[in-house]
Amino acid sequence: MFNVALIAHDKMKPEIIDFSLKYKDVLQKCKLIATGTTGQLIQEHTGLEIERLLSGPLGGDQQIGSRISCQRVDLVVFLRDPLTAQPHEPDITALLRICDVHNVPVATNRKTADILLDYLRIQIEDDDRT
Ligand code: PGA
Repeated sequence: MFNVALIAHDKMKPEIIDFSLKYKDVLQKCKLIATGTTGQLIQEHTGLEIERLLSGPLGGDQQIGSRISCQRVDLVVFLRDPLTAQPHEPDITALLRICDVHNVPVATNRKTADILLDYLRIQIEDDDRT
């Protein structure tokens, strides 16, 4: 089973809800984790089962980074707000760095997220066939 982490900054929350609805069929076949508020909103709007960690500014990004370090995350969707300064910028940088350290695919905008999930759909369909 694929492990997927979902994070969205506040102004990107509507986008990640739209994304989760579009890919609900794929995401429901994955083990999902998310930062606190992102996870709550996705759960409310999609009914998907999600393990919710702390809110990003309170350490949720670092918790996800820790899971990545332990090889427990296969793919990250992190819809960042490129136009607003974030108080936890160092945590965001660290999360992206640890994705690169462990070669974990990470989408930081919607288009890339769509491409990754289209790819994941194909992977899951292949796994289902074998
Ligand atoms: P949140 O955290 O899902 O708790 O809002 C996301 C973030 O800002 O990193």
